[in-house]
Amino acid sequence: MKVYNFESDLNLTPENSDEQYMREALKLAEQAFRENEVPIGAIIVANGKIIGKGYNLTERLNDVTAHAEMQAFTAAANFLGGKYLKDCTLYVTIEPCVMCAGASYWTQISRIVYGAKDEKRGYSAIHDKIIHPKTEIKSGVLEEDCANLVKSFFRNKR
Ligand SMILES: [Zn+2]
Repeated sequence: MKVYNFESDLNLTPENSDEQYMREALKLAEQAFRENEVPIGAIIVANGKIIGKGYNLTERLNDVTAHAEMQAFTAAANFLGGKYLKDCTLYVTIEPCVMCAGASYWTQISRIVYGAKDEKRGYSAIHDKIIHPKTEIKSGVLEEDCANLVKSFFRNKR
């Protein structure tokens, strides 16, 4: 099983980079979709380089903690050889849940960019202060694409 890999240096300008990186996270969400996992994808970027990737693997691993963000945090920490993700940005297609937001607190990550809000299980609906005070949040990047993937996944389930 290959979960972690670290290829690709996208050559991006600062103006479009959030959308471009979100597209990379969306590709991972689509991969999850193909594997019949709830389609959420995440990447972590440091200095313009993707240093961690993940997508939801809760079915494959029989592990409710195997969210995309958790995979990406672990991969990025392994890559950096340290647990703190300062000067890193997490891109995730759907707003993190409280577990992942809580994990992000411990990483002290600099920035979180997410696509669509999760009205029910997103951290902000439950406990806004769970995010580290140093972490900057941006939402709504490729929001529709990110949300539609999850919607069509659950539509197919019915
Ligand atoms: Zn989560």
